[in-house]
Amino acid sequence: MITVRELTKHYGSQVAVDALTLDIPAGQIVGLLGPNGAGKSTTLKMLTGMITPTSGTAVIAGYDLRSEALEVKRHVGFVPESGALYEALTGMEFLEMVAALYGIPAGAARERIAEFLAFFDLGMATLTDKLLAAYSKGMRRKVVIIAALLHNPPVIFFDEPLDGLDANAAVGFKALIQSLARSGR
Ligand code: ADP
Ligand code: MG
Repeated sequence: MITVRELTKHYGSQVAVDALTLDIPAGQIVGLLGPNGAGKSTTLKMLTGMITPTSGTAVIAGYDLRSEALEVKRHVGFVPESGALYEALTGMEFLEMVAALYGIPAGAARERIAEFLAFFDLGMATLTDKLLAAYSKGMRRKVVIIAALLHNPPVIFFDEPLDGLDANAAVGFKALIQSLARSGR
């Protein structure tokens, strides 16, 4: 599902990622561990097409990162380290907007939103009662996670996924990714 060969990123004279090579089969949950500045976020940004590698290659879900970047974006979900929200929308409005950008019909999107909310023990009403600006950090994180899954991507990248989640939400998140892995993601 993910094939990475000699993937490298330089920022000026600094080497952020140095010839990373790995293979990840379908249905597998893999974590990147390392201290601050190890190059984890840089790796995820390269594999999701957010930044261009200095050298090296990767094939994601069968698509070449260099020559098929748009297809790669269609087939990955990405939860970045921070940001990625419109504060003036409710959670539901934001998720409906993301669904529309991916061309997902509203009814199907609502079904998927409800399915993912259940992992966090949340009902639809929690997404409509206030604007994202007024959400807690953990609640924002849950919305961004759900947004990344709406188009049913075969590959999902999470950068610091447990950041801001309380203990119950962390358990829910782990159940969610296990369920995704069981379905071959
Ligand atoms: P991690 O996510 O493992 O904490 P990062 O991938 O964010 O590490 O960073 C790896 C290295 O690359 C760090 O030394 C960081 O300072 C550097 N770096 C990351 N992004 C940039 C950037 N846009 N410009 C310059 N240096 C960067
Ligand atoms: Mg990071």
